[in-house]
Amino acid sequence: MDLIKQAAFDLHNDSIEEWNKTGKPIVGYTCSQVPVELFYAGGILPIRLRGVGVHGLDIADAYYGPFICSFPKAILQSMAEGKLAHLSGAIIADGCDSMRRLDECWRKAGDDYPHMKLPFFHYINVPRKSVEHARQWFIDEIDQLKQKLESHFSVTISMENIQNAIRVYNCNRTLIQKIDMLRQSNPPKILGSDAFCISLAAQSMSPEFFQRQVSEFLNNFSSKSNDASNAKRLLLSGSAYDDIHLIQTVEAAGAHVVGENVCFGPLHQKNHISESCPPYEALADHYILECPCPRMFGRFDYRLNLIKKKIQTTQANGVILQNIRFCDLHGSENGLLERELEKDGIPCIRLEREYGSQTDTGRLRMRIDAFLERITV
Ligand code: SF4
Repeated sequence: MDLIKQAAFDLHNDSIEEWNKTGKPIVGYTCSQVPVELFYAGGILPIRLRGVGVHGLDIADAYYGPFICSFPKAILQSMAEGKLAHLSGAIIADGCDSMRRLDECWRKAGDDYPHMKLPFFHYINVPRKSVEHARQWFIDEIDQLKQKLESHFSVTISMENIQNAIRVYNCNRTLIQKIDMLRQSNPPKILGSDAFCISLAAQSMSPEFFQRQVSEFLNNFSSKSNDASNAKRLLLSGSAYDDIHLIQTVEAAGAHVVGENVCFGPLHQKNHISESCPPYEALADHYILECPCPRMFGRFDYRLNLIKKKIQTTQANGVILQNIRFCDLHGSENGLLERELEKDGIPCIRLEREYGSQTDTGRLRMRIDAFLERITV
């Protein structure tokens, strides 16, 4: 579990070190709707961009200004602090307006700070509707990105390679499903914070390294939980969330986090991609038609049902609806979710926070304690 936690907490880890020794490139990407299989098919390692370990935002604020989500800012600050020096390129998706702006802010910062300039930069336009013409649009975007990668990195990305990459990443998804199942028992067989570390590691390691580590973990696994089964069980939902402090705060309060609906979590990662469809279509179906992110228009009921199903399978007693300050997407979605879930008698708490280590944990702990008192099991 140590190397998994290393990858969950640090932006640089043994898997990245191992890949670097091969001399093959590593690229960073911003959003769970970026098709990682395309990079891997060209011998390029895709690593999800994060801002963990950033404590100040002085450089990022200079480009972004004050009233913006601190997640993309923390990514820019990580680059400024040299924490992403292992990257040969970055792919920015327009997940939301704050993340879209990372493209222009990073390019501009690269003009001012040479160490922040990357040799390869690509902006991918991801549709916001799960309809046929959007699916075709996304296939065109995938093809453009493929051509850009091939010409810049002098690699060949064949349909066969993409098919193979889909198989490789589906093995990651199988392991993530297995870990997720361990949380459905009462008491859960694995700590929520450990399970979430595994989700994070899947996006911060090469699939081979990840599969080695998680298979070894599962082979030596013995259930950790030894407390009574009447501990309260919570689901965590909302804005981009990639550190475990909030989950640990819940665990410290004597409750369990039995599942996450956040873009770094298993819900966005565990569905397999079809291995029988043509690769482009299979990728578009997965990343566009199945995406549980509130950026997708006209899909609130689909997302609400996903959460309700997750509450059922995990026997959750309540839901934490969190959003990063200035995250309009999840801030507004959380209001709708709270209304619908409370109507069904599912207690919800809404928490607003800053990204990562800027979060005021003390205040959150008080809120969570009060919320747990409200829940009866
Ligand atoms: S947390 Fe919200 S505002 Fe921040 S990058 Fe994600 S969707 Fe955008």
